[in-house]
Order: sequence, then structure tokens, then C-alpha cells
Amino acid sequence: SEKTDMSIFEQLESEVRSYCRSFPTVFEKAKGYKLWDREGREYIDFFAGAGALNYGHNNSRMKEKLIEYLSSDGVIHSLDMATSAKESFLRRFHDVILKPRNLEYKVMFPGPTGTNTVESALKLARKVTGRDTVVSFTRAFHGMTLGSLAVTGNAFKRKGAGIPLTHSVSLPYDQYDEHVDSLTLLERYLEDKGSGMDLPAAVILETVQGEGGINVASSEWLKQVEQICRRHGVLLIVDDVQAGCGRTGTYFSFEPAGIKPDIVCLSKSLSGYGLPFAITLIRPDLDEWGPGEHNGTFRGHNLAFVAATEALNFWETDDFAKEIQRKGEKVRTNLERIAEKHSSQNGEVRGRGLMLGISFPQEGFAEEVCKEAFKRGLIMETAGPDSEVAKLLPPLTIDDEGLEKGLSILDESVEAASR
Ligand code: PMP
Repeated sequence: SEKTDMSIFEQLESEVRSYCRSFPTVFEKAKGYKLWDREGREYIDFFAGAGALNYGHNNSRMKEKLIEYLSSDGVIHSLDMATSAKESFLRRFHDVILKPRNLEYKVMFPGPTGTNTVESALKLARKVTGRDTVVSFTRAFHGMTLGSLAVTGNAFKRKGAGIPLTHSVSLPYDQYDEHVDSLTLLERYLEDKGSGMDLPAAVILETVQGEGGINVASSEWLKQVEQICRRHGVLLIVDDVQAGCGRTGTYFSFEPAGIKPDIVCLSKSLSGYGLPFAITLIRPDLDEWGPGEHNGTFRGHNLAFVAATEALNFWETDDFAKEIQRKGEKVRTNLERIAEKHSSQNGEVRGRGLMLGISFPQEGFAEEVCKEAFKRGLIMETAGPDSEVAKLLPPLTIDDEGLEKGLSILDESVEAASR
């Protein structure tokens, strides 16, 4: 295709830039599951802002609400002052999400990003327990600030800190490290540390690891981890930044396992419109911070509240969840067919709901697949420590036609990468 002028990005933007290298074009417009670049080329989006656009780009109903709010000179920035927009969000979040699930949490606004909610969870867990270590799992991804990076199981990202990252212990994630019984290890570790101060403050986990390679923890494993934590008085933090907000087929990814985390981290698709927003859900008796003890300038943003309140309408009935599950099954079946068709690549399908991927053992193959897909107008990324998983995160609102088109490009891309 024609070369797009990317020179200002190359001259001025830091070398750390990544996605503009993977997708070397200048995007200008987006709607639903489609994006268009400056040359008018159309792309199907199987990336959804790394999970921040579960309801697609520029959802019409949210857009209307945002325009209405802007037109009425609604308060945009207000620190954490009470506003009507915030009130509506809190009411709806309680009525549509927490109450029907019988969940009791205090809602905290930790700042706009995923890493902010994780950071607040780690800090609060330390404050309420008076302990410092946090147990995380191999291949976990929790964010890029020093605390959240310390519980992230990715050597390359950790190296970015340039210093040893402390107060964290990494244990094997479910069955993903062969020949190791991760539950026995966790139990032994906590028993060994059972002398009060030496116990960790918390265990933090993703029920499906996104950046780590679409690794799915079983419900049984999650239940056991919860029980072990309870037995030893260690808090359980679920990082639902990527797997939450419906991505795996239920609003919270931990619903099918029937566990009740002490702290839950949500961000990415929470605002529904791609506006930066995060919340930390806290078991009420752990809500120990006094006024101002943990604050920040952008804690809860009114535009994000407006969009997020509208997004909650998707969850008023079970229909949306059922649709995600149906589409998830459809994509899975297709991925299995693609893996089977190109069986010499030994692709292995993994995931839950619409958080799916194919892992390819041959070095660099998944990256090649994504490059070929981009050339053909499909946006998708890799995941996993060696970028070995071609990851699919289509908007949850995508229709069957969009899914079929994207999957057929993926099929061609695997074919092209095999040549
Ligand atoms: N936790 C998880 C599970 C994530 O996937 C991410 C982002 N990929 C984060 C935390 C960090 O979120 P953010 O990039 O918004 O800081």
C-alpha cells in the first residue's frame, strides 16, 4: 500500500512508542468495529483498544449523551466533588451491577488508568494488613507503575524499571507451568510465612491473563486460591481491568467461579467510550483510608461518568451476556477450524468469552500473522512472554458479519505467514 507519512512520530515521539510501529498508519475515524486511516483504508478492529472498547468505537447512544452533557455545560472536571454525573453513575452501578450479583463493595476512584486501580489496591492491602509482600502469578500483567510492575510477571517490562522490584513473590499460574501444583505451592508458602508479620498482604490475579497470553484459570483453581487466602487471612485482589466489563462473557470475570474477591480493579471498558476511567471496589470493612489519604486530580471524570452510566444499560438484562457467550463460541469454533487447517503450525486455541487467541509455538509466527492481518485490513495484537499468541479482542458489540470477515482475514493471514 502507499507509504503514509509517519515522520513527525518518528522525529518527535519517544522510542518507547509501540502500537504506532505495529500499525504503521495514521488513523482518523472509527465506528463500531471499524477504523479508517487517512488514506480512507478500512480496518476491522479485533483489538478494541487493548480491551478498552468493549462497546465499539463511538457508540451512538453514549455519543448522544456526551454531546448532550457538553451542550448543557455540564461540569467536566471536578476533582472528586459530588456531581450529578457521578451520582447517576454510582446509582446505576449499584442497581445494575452490584445489587443483582449480591456484591457489597465501597467504590473508590483511584485515578484514570488500570495501573492506578491496581496501585491503589496494592497500597490499601498493605495499609489494612500492615504487611508488605504481595503474591502474584507468572505471566501476570498489572501495570507499569513501580508497584503494579512489581507484581507483573514479564521480564522485559520489569527491566524497564532498571532497578530490582521488591515486596513481591511470583508463583505459578494455575496449570500453566507444567509439573507444578500451584495450589500446593501457594498453601506451603503461606503456611511457611504463617508467623504474622511475614505473611503476604494479598494475592493478586487475573482470572484470564490478557497480556500474559490468554491464559485461563479454571473455576476450581480460583475457588481454591480464594479458600487458601481466607484460611491464612490474606486478601484476594482480582485485577479485572482487561477481563472485566463483559470481556469473558459475564460483567465480572470471576462470576462463574463464584468467588468474592476482597478488592476488585476495573478500568479499560468501564467508561464504555474509551475515556480514561477506573474504579477500585473495596470490601466495606477494608475501607480504611480517611479523607484525602489517597487522592489525585483526575479521580473520576464526569465525561467518563456520563458514558459509563449509559454503558450500564447493556447489563440491565442477561441478553448482552448471552450474546457475548454465543459469539465467543462461534469465534472459538472458527479458530479451531483455522488451527486445524494449518495444522503444521501447531496452533492451540485458548480463551473464554470474547477474550480469545491462538498460540503458535514457532518463534515470531504470531507476530507475522498480525503483520499479514494488518496488510489485509485487520487489527490484532500478540500476547504472551514471547509474543507467541495471536490475540483476538473484538468489540463485544460486533455483529456476525464483522466476526466472519475478520476471521476470514485471519485465516488468510495464517496462510500467508506459513509461506
Ligand atoms: N491490569 C491488566 C490486567 C491489564 O491488562 C492492564 C493493561 N493492559 C493493566 C492492568 C494496566 O492498565 P493501564 O494500561 O490502563 O494502566
